[in-house]
Formats: sequence, structure tokens, C-alpha cells
Amino acid sequence: MAETQELITIIGSGPAAWTAAIYAARANLRPLVYEGEPSPVMIPGGQLMYTTDVENYPGFPDGVTGPELMMNLKAQAERFGARVVSEDIVNVELSAHPFVLTTSMDAEVETLALIIATGARANWLGVPNEERLVQMGGGVSACAVCDGALPLFREKVLAVVGGGDSAMEEALYLTKFASKVFVVHRRDELRASRIMADRALNHPKIEVLWNTRVAEVLGYDHIEGVRLEDTVTRRVHDLPLGGLFIAIGHTPNTRFLTGKVDLTPHGYIRTPSPWRTATNVEGVFAAGDVMDDYYRQAITAAGTGCMAALEAERWLAHKGLGESPVLETAEAPVQNS
Ligand code: FAD
Ligand code: NAP
Repeated sequence: MAETQELITIIGSGPAAWTAAIYAARANLRPLVYEGEPSPVMIPGGQLMYTTDVENYPGFPDGVTGPELMMNLKAQAERFGARVVSEDIVNVELSAHPFVLTTSMDAEVETLALIIATGARANWLGVPNEERLVQMGGGVSACAVCDGALPLFREKVLAVVGGGDSAMEEALYLTKFASKVFVVHRRDELRASRIMADRALNHPKIEVLWNTRVAEVLGYDHIEGVRLEDTVTRRVHDLPLGGLFIAIGHTPNTRFLTGKVDLTPHGYIRTPSPWRTATNVEGVFAAGDVMDDYYRQAITAAGTGCMAALEAERWLAHKGLGESPVLETAEAPVQNS
């Protein structure tokens, strides 16, 4: 038996979740936000907690640190009355309405509308010194578009790990700033599409190190290089570097949603209509990186968080739930299902 019934519940704590919470709170929907618990792979506040300077979030001409931006977004949501619980949601029952959510402390919550903004996490190599250098802003990153233009990477020799389209894209992007870019790939064949592979292979600043894996990142507070191992001969050698970008894929945080809501083959939440955040389950909306494997930026996550809150508010109003008037827009159907 659920202990409470909520009008709207938001799961997550990145830019998408807090933006949804700001909009829902200002619409008097009294959102309840499950921000998650710290774990070895995730911390409340989301992916930006792992970075130092964010230079491309509008409104901060001098940049802002990731943790500061996240603290501010959360404080803004709380200012308008969002309530925050520092627990994970470990299960959802979406086949009946109201939906029932189970928390990591085994509490049950009923909710009439649900916004899922649990994000995705960049995959890391898990080799020595990698995690510390990521957290210290010491020259190891999983996002060239976010960090590549920072002064610490300019005119340096950089490396990108991975052989997929992301790795090619990151390597090509980094050629704008770096003196040279190595692509470190564990096999003798790229996974990337032909066109992306050709672009990278033909670029004068890019060199691919085939059959090579990173065994260790070198450096204490700033990267000095990597220890590489040849995957065929097992020969080991060190390569001096000014920066390392890991591009070995992302994992959406949707394990608890399997079989509950439509997911793509890569595990992202499917939102069937363009420019909508509604999922295949009426009353369930998705925002941020958990439904976006293409842009993956803080500002796009925040944008879809806003969209999800507005869509949820309209959906509740059409159902006669909540306090908002029904907002009609002829071109904008309330729900896709
Ligand atoms: P996330 O930020 O992924 O946060 C989701 C959070 O929800 C999780 O961290 C977790 O705490 C919580 N959660 C997950 N599952 C559950 C659950 N079951 N129950 C409760 N809570 C849960 N983008 C930029 O625009 N500019 C940058 O400079 C930039 N730098 C980056 C640097 C790094 C190192 C990385 C990894 C990413 C960077 N990005 C940057 C990308 C940006 O961080 C993401 O696009 C953005 O954070 C996505 O936001 P989100 O709201 O979808 O969720
Ligand atoms: P991906 O296609 O899954 O490629 C991941 C790469 O990382 C693979 O080369 C893989 O090696 C390597 N890898 C995985 N784990 C590793 C580990 N532990 N150590 C070393 N290497 C590891 O992921 P992606 O490149 O992020 O692309 C995801 C999807 O987005 C794809 O469908 C892609 O086409 C698409 N995408 C498209 C574009 C574009 O068109 N512009 C840009 C980016 C992404 P193996 O090859 O040996 O498995």
C-alpha cells in the first residue's frame, strides 16, 4: 500500500530534472523529486558533478563550475516548493493508474504523472588514475564538445579512446585546438561509419594507434600521459599526452524501466512524436539524456525538462487533475498514445 499520493513525481537530478521541477513547482503542482543516492557510478546532480568548467551553458559569460550550476538549479527548484528526497527509484509500476514507485528505502509512492530524467552515464575505462583525474579536472574527459576548447588542451598532443562514430567525431573536433590527436583503438578495424572513419583517417593531425588499449593514465593532479598495451603482442609503452578523451559509449540509466516503458535498442526511452516528451505510457514523460542519444548537452537536457513539465501539466489539466487551466494549442496534441 502506497504511503503518499503525489500529483507529479520527477526522477533524476541533472539539468532536465531540476528544470522540470522549477516549471512544475511554479505551476503549483508541488513536485516531488527523487534525486538519487551517491554510488560509484552516479551522484546526485548528474554528469556535470564530474566536470569543472562549463563554458557553453547560456547565461554565464565567465563560465560556471558543474557542481555550482547544479546546486543553483536545485536551489531554484526548492525556492518554488519542489520537495527533494535523496533516494533512488528502484521500481515503477506503470500498468495501472496512479503509478506506483518504489524507493531504495523500500517506501512506496503513488503518483498521477511521472517525469523520468535519470540521464545517461559516459562509460569509463576503469583504469588507474582515470577517475581521480576526471574529478579534478586534470585533463581526462568524456566530452570533447564540452571541454575541448578549454585552455588546458590548446596546442597539446591529445588522445581519444574508442573506434566508434563518437570517437571519430571527438577526434575531428579536437583537431581545431590540438597540435596532434591520437585515436587509441583496441582492434584493427573501426566500428565507425565509413564516412566518419574516412574523415578521421584522412585528417593530417589524426593518427590511429591500432590494436592498442590504455592500461593506465599517468599523472597525479594533471595527466602526463598514458601507459599503452598492444593487444596482440602485449608490448607496453608510455605515450606523453596533454589530455585524454574517453569515447567508448554511454549507458542510459533505464535498467529499472525495462518492460515498463518503450526503450530503443540502445536502452534510451522512446518518445514517439518529434518535439514531444510523452512516452508510450500515458502520463509518463521523459526528459534529458535518458531520451536523447544525439545532443547530450546540459542546455538540451534543461530544454526537454521544461517541455516535459509543460506537457505533464497540460495532461493533468485535461484529466481534470491539478489546478492548472486546460491550455489548448490546436497543433499540439496533449498525448501521443
Ligand atoms: P544527468 O546529468 O545524467 O543526471 C541524471 C541523474 O539522475 C543521475 O546522475 C542520478 O543522480 C539521478 N538518477 C539516475 N537514476 C536514478 C534513479 N533510478 N532514481 C533517482 N535518481 C536517479 N554538457 C554541456 O552542455 N556542457 C558541458 O560543459 C558538459 N560537460 C560535461 C562533462 C562531463 C565529464 C560529462 C560526463 C558530461 C558533460 N556534459 C556537458 C553533458 C551533460 O552533463 C549532460 O548532457 C547533462 O548532464 C544531462 O542531464 P540530465 O538531466 O539528462 O541527467
Ligand atoms: P559505439 O558505436 O558503441 O562505439 C564504442 C567504441 O568504443 C567501439 O569502437 C568499442 O570498441 C569501443 N569500446 C567500448 N568499450 C571499450 C573499452 N572498455 N575499452 C576500449 N574501447 C572500448 O558508441 P558511439 O561511438 O558512442 O556511438 C553510439 C551510437 O551513436 C552509434 O550508433 C553511432 O553511429 C551513433 N553516433 C553517430 C554519430 C554521427 O553520425 N555523427 C556521432 C556519434 C555517435 P569495439 O569496436 O572493439 O567494440
